Amino acid sequence: MWSFQTDPDFQVELDWIAQFVREEVEPLDHILGNQYDITDPRFVALVRPLQARVKERGLWACHLGPELGGKGYGQVKLALMNEQFGRSRFGPIVFGSQAPDTGNSEILAHYGTSEQKKNWLEPLLDNQIVSCFAITEPQGGADPLGFEMTAVQDGDEWVLNGEKWFASNARYASFYIVMAVTDPEAANPYKRASMFIVSANTPGIEIIRHHGFYGEASASHGHVRWTNVRVPADGMLGERGDAFVVAQVRLGGGRMHHAMRTIAEATKYLEMMCQRVLSRTTKGELLARKQMVEEKIADSWIQLRQFRLMVLEAAWLADQGNSWKDIRKHVSAVKATMPKVLHDITERALHLHGSLGISTEAPFSDGLINSYHIALADGPTEVHKMVVAREVLKQFSPIEEMFPDYLLYRQEEHAITLYGDRLAEIGAKPVLAKRI
Ligand SMILES: Cc1cc2nc3c(=O)[nH]c(=O)nc-3n(C[C@H](O)[C@H](O)[C@H](O)COP(=O)(O)OP(=O)(O)OC[C@H]3O[C@@H](n4cnc5c(N)ncnc54)[C@H](O)[C@@H]3O)c2cc1C
Repeated sequence: MWSFQTDPDFQVELDWIAQFVREEVEPLDHILGNQYDITDPRFVALVRPLQARVKERGLWACHLGPELGGKGYGQVKLALMNEQFGRSRFGPIVFGSQAPDTGNSEILAHYGTSEQKKNWLEPLLDNQIVSCFAITEPQGGADPLGFEMTAVQDGDEWVLNGEKWFASNARYASFYIVMAVTDPEAANPYKRASMFIVSANTPGIEIIRHHGFYGEASASHGHVRWTNVRVPADGMLGERGDAFVVAQVRLGGGRMHHAMRTIAEATKYLEMMCQRVLSRTTKGELLARKQMVEEKIADSWIQLRQFRLMVLEAAWLADQGNSWKDIRKHVSAVKATMPKVLHDITERALHLHGSLGISTEAPFSDGLINSYHIALADGPTEVHKMVVAREVLKQFSPIEEMFPDYLLYRQEEHAITLYGDRLAEIGAKPVLAKRI
């Protein structure tokens, strides 16, 4: 059964979200600092009341299943919601759906002890605290088998040593979820690391530097050094050696949510592009009437529409009960496509606004940098393309013969074997392609 319709009751909620975000949430992007700085008095004064309205409306933390107090809407509805609140830097946190807390809450819900859930998960879900997911290391992020941070058992505790890199929100986080090598000699390289939850105020954790990128409100990606950081035995999440299994719980959803918000951002720039070309005249006619401009509008709309369908299909597959691993081809395809869609649409919007577009008054430079951000975070595009290719290739096998059976002469032989007698019965010959 195929359907491209939104249930009318849910459409009412989407319309409310759209208006609320445009009128009350987007303005925050222009007067507040980092959206994760939740103890800033300006955050408390302006963001908390908006979060309360979302809770009253029953739209808080909709990524969660009912067992965690969420609505259990599923990924398709979540995608449609993110398409609205993803327009704003503050949108996700106003709706209780901000990364990396969403993914970290999924890990804690799966692997946390009841005490960890009480101490960390409950306040996280309520946005009383924020968290950090620290995997990448300075010597390279795209190859997790190259990670060097160690965790060595000492009595009832684990002792962590090493460095993490670009750990988003390290400066605001109350706790870290961190990957460290516990079994360097394990035969299976994917069984060498384990996952830990560590309180941010544990002695031995030092943020060497906060890194930022162009357009961010504050530098918030930590280069973090860990020196003899002692973690209690129950700080290990999941089984020893299972860091990659634990990470997978969060990464599929995290990548999809980024994609949903990318639709929102790209839609915003497409809207700006359309308004501009309908308002600007050159050489006696509107920019919008010039064919090279029309091509840019058309290409942008088509690219965005293709991407949106791809995201919704992957979301729908998840809602059918498939695990993120089952649909990794779809998720990686979405992840590999999103930076290009955002890049291309933002670049056209910037270009069509001329000097205004390149100026710091316009949002497009931020959008361009963001397209590079989403190409790197949660795994670089190249790696996701490798996943797609390998998953696609799994459906095929090599052949023994020198020449494949799809060559035309072999197809003709096959067709004649199948239908030659029937043609002979009616006194006809096959019509064969003329080849030299
Ligand atoms: C804004 C932002 C936020 C982030 N937040 C976090 C966070 O919260 N926690 C965390 O742990 N990490 C985080 N990261 C780190 C992110 O996961 C890494 O940037 C990513 O894994 C790439 O690692 P790297 O930066 O070391 O690049 P490298 O691994 O050095 O890659 C360098 C280049 O090689 C390319 N490349 C990589 N592999 C291949 C390949 N197989 N074939 C061809 N080319 C390849 C990459 O695309 C890139 O262009 C964040 C990154 C960014 C940009």
